[in-house]
Amino acid sequence: FPLGRRAACDIYWHGVSFHDNENIVSGQVNKFPGMVEMLRKINLSRAMRTMQELFPEEYDFYPRSWILPEEYQQFSAQIRMVKEKDTTVSPTFIVKPDGGSQGDGIYLIRDPSDLKLMVGAQPKQAVVQEYIHKPLLIDKLKFDIRLYVLIKSLEPLEIYIAKEGLTRFCTEPYQEPTQKNLSHVFMHLTNYSLNVHSGNFVHSDSQSTGSKRTLSSVLYRLAAKGVDIKRVWSDIIALVIKSVIAVVPELKLHYQADIPPGKPGPTCFQILGFDILLMKNLKPVLLEVNSNPSMRIEHEQEVAPGVSEYVPSPVDEHVKVGVIRDTLRLMDPFNKKPTVNMISHSTQPLL
Ligand code: ADP
Repeated sequence: FPLGRRAACDIYWHGVSFHDNENIVSGQVNKFPGMVEMLRKINLSRAMRTMQELFPEEYDFYPRSWILPEEYQQFSAQIRMVKEKDTTVSPTFIVKPDGGSQGDGIYLIRDPSDLKLMVGAQPKQAVVQEYIHKPLLIDKLKFDIRLYVLIKSLEPLEIYIAKEGLTRFCTEPYQEPTQKNLSHVFMHLTNYSLNVHSGNFVHSDSQSTGSKRTLSSVLYRLAAKGVDIKRVWSDIIALVIKSVIAVVPELKLHYQADIPPGKPGPTCFQILGFDILLMKNLKPVLLEVNSNPSMRIEHEQEVAPGVSEYVPSPVDEHVKVGVIRDTLRLMDPFNKKPTVNMISHSTQPLL
């Protein structure tokens, strides 16, 4: 209701941010104030760094990162030191523009001198991060996990994790990075938006084949190979909870600034998209958190050269409809005992 509405709603579903509709004084909004800003690559890296300094072992699931341009000197000095210590190592790094998404502007480097530091006369805001060079492969392909997480409330902190998620596959067999293959995005980046343009992308109606599969089908396959998937899953849950804890203090500040105690206002909840990579040793690594994960249940298909059409995607539908349905059940003020397919982690008794 962009022009306002007289009767109050129980739930307001905003497209982008808390501020899409102003003057809401009751009900629940599906976005937290400040979430978009908090989860931008630079801010997330800062929040993770703070926790890594305090609890290095607990937060070892986030790759070493440097913020550009301000940490360029530290980055160059550290890489020089590593290379001088052992001349046989040549680590790879991934550079991600701040505020970018869908793989836009991402590139790999092996030397600080390859950084593109400026856009015209302006310094480029970006994060440069240790590249995880030994990911777990399935069918020789790199893949990542998209997990949906509901923040039901900040105070007390209540987190729900959807049991079903997506996995997104690369479209070229993986090889460890070499100077020659650094620019092969279909091998190194798992983004759907990039791989869909590869001739090898497989749209499949099945949940366990193709370039986008359900998380459960991948876990099933790993279990069949003898992998302890209970352990993998509990590591993933720990990663999610610790990541949320890292951003909560600042989120609370935003919340109090926008909805001060005593002032009428809505409460908030939000669905986040966690991007997670499994390393070859099965350890999960956090790549990023999306404040506005795509809820599209169709995919783009090229029907003729240069002509694309949206066609239904059963895998997306299966996962995303479940996430939205469970979220609405959990947030429905009249539904006291919702049945959902999400796991709850809360600092108060469960519903
Ligand atoms: P974007 O928001 O543009 O998608 P991501 O941080 O998700 O940016 O990175 C895009 C892709 O690059 C990921 O889906 C993953 O395949 C790959 N990637 C990102 N960070 C790393 C990393 N540190 N090590 C290995 N691969 C990575």
